[in-house]
Amino acid sequence: MPSTAQTATPPQAPPAGCASAATWFHVEDLGDGVTLISEPGHVNCFLVQGTDRALLFDSGLGIAPISEIVASLTDTPLLVVSSHDHVDHRGGNADLVAHAEELRLVAIAAHPSAVDPASATHRAADPGFLLDYAAAMTGVYEDYLRFEALDEQSFFVLAGLGRMRPMPDTSTWHVPGVRPTLALHDGARIDLGDRTLRVVHTPGHSPDSLVLVDERSGTLLAGDTVIAAASWLHNDGSDLAAFAASTAHLAGLPLTRVLTAHNLIAVQPPERVAAVARAAALTRDGGTRPVAGWDLLGYPVDRHTHAGVTLLLPASPSSRTADDAAAVSDLAVTGAPTAHRRADLAKELA
Ligand SMILES: [Zn+2]
Ligand SMILES: [Zn+2]
Repeated sequence: MPSTAQTATPPQAPPAGCASAATWFHVEDLGDGVTLISEPGHVNCFLVQGTDRALLFDSGLGIAPISEIVASLTDTPLLVVSSHDHVDHRGGNADLVAHAEELRLVAIAAHPSAVDPASATHRAADPGFLLDYAAAMTGVYEDYLRFEALDEQSFFVLAGLGRMRPMPDTSTWHVPGVRPTLALHDGARIDLGDRTLRVVHTPGHSPDSLVLVDERSGTLLAGDTVIAAASWLHNDGSDLAAFAASTAHLAGLPLTRVLTAHNLIAVQPPERVAAVARAAALTRDGGTRPVAGWDLLGYPVDRHTHAGVTLLLPASPSSRTADDAAAVSDLAVTGAPTAHRRADLAKELA
């Protein structure tokens, strides 16, 4: 999602939470010492437990206190890793810092660029973005209810997945800036005791994206670099060529499962990485045809799809032909933007 950091970091208290942890989060044991802590339909975070330390990969939206969930799962010292700067992956960092003693918090770790106090990243979220997110996801939840009804009638693909969470009253929602203090360089190893995670920098979705590889189990903690849904490459700072190179590198690793950061599906087979890498290379080389559409939040994008993988690139006027306008109107194919974005899009395509 787009980085929406403000230029200044106002002092802000940690969020009290707009929802209770018990109702907002879905917690699931994924085996081998890994626990999914998801905000179903929104963001997936993962707790990896070693004998000496636990590692929390991303902290979610900051809508409910993730510290309560983490405290209930582990009492070993905790390292928090932010996969990148986007606010939906670090929204809980302030809550975790506020409970540092109880959680035995070692550090908030991130890409080396994040540790610089002058960095424009990891600052307080723009309240306007949070409002936009809440409005857009309220519309997505209405779509989910319709989809769920169809699924219960005919398809049964949602069975076993967490139910999407409706947006609570988010009038007090804010994401304070928290400066990471531990720089994770490419190739660094994080020792948790009986397991070690390797840091791999994966620029593309964002310049500061990183993933973690548990080499013992072949588990990839993929952040937004490989997700089960459309890959966002239309943000400021996104770079398709870098994304193709990063995913090609990951596709060469001996992986057994991929833990992904968005939507209802949190675990993907390793073949997903190669599929994303192929789609990225093909798109980079001009081998896909853009189709006008929109992202989950309703912003116009060009959609490039190959073999079940969709990449979202910045909307180009040339892709918005009359044919594409017709395609965009087909909600079943391209997803449903919220009403106000739909109106914008109609204007744009007129
Ligand atoms: Zn992101
Ligand atoms: Zn994300």
